[in-house]
Amino acid sequence: MSHSALALVRGALTGHTGWPRTWDSPLPRDRYKVIVVGAGGHGLATAYYLGRNHGITDVAVLEKGWLGGGNTGRNTTIIRSNYLQDASSAIYEKSRALYEGLSQELNYNVMFSPRGVMMLAQTEHEVRGYLRTARANYLQGVETRFITPEEVQKRVPIIRLDGPRYPVLGALWQPRAGTARHDAVAWGYARACSAMGMHILENCEVTGVRSDAGRVSGVETTRGAIGCERLAIVVAGHSGRLAQMAGFRLPVESVTLQALVSEPVKPCMDVVVMANTVHGYLSQSDKGEMVIGGGADGFNNFTQRGSWHHIEETVRALVETFPMLSRLKMLRQWGGVVDMTGDRSPILSPTPLGGCYINCGWGTGGFKAIPGSGWAMAEMVANEAPGPLAAPFGLERFREGRFIDESVAAGVAH
Ligand SMILES: Cc1cc2nc3c(=O)[nH]c(=O)nc-3n(C[C@H](O)[C@H](O)[C@H](O)COP(=O)(O)OP(=O)(O)OC[C@H]3O[C@@H](n4cnc5c(N)ncnc54)[C@H](O)[C@@H]3O)c2cc1C
Repeated sequence: MSHSALALVRGALTGHTGWPRTWDSPLPRDRYKVIVVGAGGHGLATAYYLGRNHGITDVAVLEKGWLGGGNTGRNTTIIRSNYLQDASSAIYEKSRALYEGLSQELNYNVMFSPRGVMMLAQTEHEVRGYLRTARANYLQGVETRFITPEEVQKRVPIIRLDGPRYPVLGALWQPRAGTARHDAVAWGYARACSAMGMHILENCEVTGVRSDAGRVSGVETTRGAIGCERLAIVVAGHSGRLAQMAGFRLPVESVTLQALVSEPVKPCMDVVVMANTVHGYLSQSDKGEMVIGGGADGFNNFTQRGSWHHIEETVRALVETFPMLSRLKMLRQWGGVVDMTGDRSPILSPTPLGGCYINCGWGTGGFKAIPGSGWAMAEMVANEAPGPLAAPFGLERFREGRFIDESVAAGVAH
């Protein structure tokens, strides 16, 4: 049954018993043309665009836990494309643009909400930095502008402009940026992949990579060995481990990033605000919870928790700019293992193992990139060579010193 108003009415009249499973749960086959490791947003989008754009549907997506249970289901869902470097804004803007039509494309409501994102400038240095980004975005065709403190106050009545440490001096404003429902993005892609006949295999952890004469030939998993012609590794914070299995090393560190939400309150803020100097960001969910995020832990680890002092620092920082937060109880806190590169840009690349491709390094900000990254990764796997979106993000840039430095635009922000 396809999602439509009529189907909803029919469901309501029949006790919602007629809905099919969103995706099938088949037994693994012996072999697939393409195996994608990781059923997060990026892995599922890769599979989807392999089918949609390149007609490759002999695909399995292997997931060690449950679909969307990694960072895709743990992030604060900010979508923006106001990056500094041309290569970044190209892939992030492609992604943002795909988000605009994703619900229609997948016939699944991903609740994309282009409510606008503002990044506060709270030091002279930040003012200069964001003015520079706004000019770069103008040349790249990405719609952003620098707004005055008065406009900030108008758009965000609960903000305090003259905080005790850092006054608000303006903000970089992207009106078509926003948020989407993270689970729905994963579920929507999964449903579309399953409808194309692809296999989504949950509880299927990859434990080894097989090769023959320098080319990938399959994977070992907790559900047995499975052969493949091409392998796409898309496992975020676990990329280092998978790369080790495939016999190469990555310039990536795994650290925990955490977020928390408050008790629900009446609508009080209809944009996303990021305060990168005091290090915290804020939006309000459809349920009314204030969704709060901060910085990543300063040490490597693989726990999905996050440390106490970060919660304290983030909330303390945000209370300076949003005093009303001090009255709210915090309801939940969680963490995800993010994969950070030195230049804070992703890796979309062929690897030293033939037929094996890697997509990682999205760090603290890859939710926004899911459609664009899947599009570019699918192109690379289908053609066995990176296309224009992926080409700048190859592994060789670390050897050649050709960094795509987004440490200001992406190192803190999400
Ligand atoms: C707290 C937090 C807040 C964030 N906020 C934002 C934000 O506001 N905006 C934004 O753009 N980004 C944000 N991010 C980053 C974003 O969540 C990630 O960049 C993005 O979700 C990565 O998606 P993915 O599909 O690559 O990874 P994941 O969703 O983590 O998927 C990878 C999957 O691979 C699986 N896997 C791992 N190892 C194996 C194996 N051996 N075999 C099989 N499967 C395996 C994992 O179980 C996992 O499901 C945030 C992240 C966190 C943690």
